[in-house]
Amino acid sequence: MNFWKNAFGGFYMIRTYEVVAGDTPCGPVTLKFIEIKGKYAGPTLVLVSGVHGDELSSIGGLYLFLDELAKLYGEDGIRGKILALPFANPLALMQRTWGFQLSGVSDVALHENLNRCFPGDPTGTFGERLAHVIFTYLLGMTPDLVIDLHCMPSSSCIIVDPIAPDAVSRHSGIVLRDITWNLAEKLGLGVVHDFPDEEYQKERLYSSLSAAFIQAGIPACTVEVPGGPVSVAESEGIVKSVIWNAVSARTLNIVPAEKELYNFPVTCPNAWLSRSELGVGKYACMPGPRAEKSGFFRPLAGLAKGFCKVRKGTLIGEILGGALEKVADVRSPVDGFLAYFSNVSMVSEGDRLCWFFVEEKK
Ligand SMILES: [Zn+2]
Repeated sequence: MNFWKNAFGGFYMIRTYEVVAGDTPCGPVTLKFIEIKGKYAGPTLVLVSGVHGDELSSIGGLYLFLDELAKLYGEDGIRGKILALPFANPLALMQRTWGFQLSGVSDVALHENLNRCFPGDPTGTFGERLAHVIFTYLLGMTPDLVIDLHCMPSSSCIIVDPIAPDAVSRHSGIVLRDITWNLAEKLGLGVVHDFPDEEYQKERLYSSLSAAFIQAGIPACTVEVPGGPVSVAESEGIVKSVIWNAVSARTLNIVPAEKELYNFPVTCPNAWLSRSELGVGKYACMPGPRAEKSGFFRPLAGLAKGFCKVRKGTLIGEILGGALEKVADVRSPVDGFLAYFSNVSMVSEGDRLCWFFVEEKK
């Protein structure tokens, strides 16, 4: 593809690597890694997007950053290396689903979720083989920070996986939990812990990309911005600013400028809210209530944006029946912030309706 040559012509030692990750009935699946190498030695930042095929703002934001970087800096303005994998899951991206299917299976629940396949297995399922290629290739680059870019229905945050207190960084020997939280807190969004342990195990989050790097002693986090199968400008702006914060002088110091540090443009109210609301204290993601009845779920107006503070017992929505009559109230089970509502309006009994950020008392 000439796109990269045109976009970056002459600016950097930029290389792309194509790695064949596996064969399908349609032919081999290849992954394209983009490497931007500065003139001087320095840290390595890994940026991954498109692990889920219906989270397009993560990819749009990464490209916005790369484009802006090329316009602002020549190779002698850069220390170290940025390694990007914008399209981590080509199959899911082509199918515009979070997971992917390889055969005629049409049940979305049976799609393979690449973000539950790490660190991968060279002889496993297709997802595990894809994960293995991504993980081993990126681990070989000895990254100082891995950022996995995702979207969720509303609001934004940085999620850090649980890290054993005695785990140390693969490179520096520094306590991994300290170094990871220190980096994550400089990215400009509110930082939260992942789900409580039981939910974490049940959701197999230990097999996510970020968790696999944490287990290998590499600082890693997951960035969530609002979005779905259509890329939106505000979310792309948040992603771009998060990456600027990562490369800036006060974080990894890959570029000298302190561009947009911490403060996002006013055009990104979701990011601003995330930072200002979650800036103090430590929060965990907490699953919200499930639907008591099936029907049409309607969150209370004003709450659907996310980051609304709610008290335990507060009415947060209602479920309407076939004649649009109310069949159930939905109340908050905790004191905390509404993280996001599920992005479906028709719910079945037992479906999860929303998630919370809850302050940790430790
Ligand atoms: Zn995702």
